[in-house]
Amino acid sequence: MAHVPSGRVHNLINIAAYSVLAAVTLVASRQGALTVTPAQALNFTLAFAAGTFLLSPDLDLAEGRVDSKRHWGVLGVLWVPYGMLFSHRGLSHTWVVGPLTRLLYVAVMVALVVGLLRFVAPSVTLPAIPQPVSLKVLAPLLIGYYLSQWLHLVADGVRPDHGLRRGARKLRRR
Ligand SMILES: [Zn+2]
Repeated sequence: MAHVPSGRVHNLINIAAYSVLAAVTLVASRQGALTVTPAQALNFTLAFAAGTFLLSPDLDLAEGRVDSKRHWGVLGVLWVPYGMLFSHRGLSHTWVVGPLTRLLYVAVMVALVVGLLRFVAPSVTLPAIPQPVSLKVLAPLLIGYYLSQWLHLVADGVRPDHGLRRGARKLRRR
């Protein structure tokens, strides 16, 4: 792992992988080997794009300058605590828990904003999540998100058992 890909390279790898996957899915569904509804394709695409451009594992560098923080614009400042909390290529770069930490972080941020809005402007009606959320909706979202994260980790040379072997890699690298 002498060289770690930059944000730009990660984006290009993910876009290339998405293109190949989209082409394969298109051919497979034309031949009736696969059924993907337009809604499922859209959910997968949105989650994959969010994972690639907005929720990259490299947000663990958000205390400094990093590509995925820049994509948030002024809101990028919200990721600074995440960057301070997680050491680079530590827990944030694990295969299962790593992507979850960023989802949880977003959930906490949204909860804080909603809580603040309820307090400041109780009359404002907030958009509700349609209940119940079915697996048909959730699965493409999760697959799209996790796939975008795993492509990043593969490109970084991070193995699936990263973080499981204690103290294997307690280095702060860039
Ligand atoms: Zn990385």
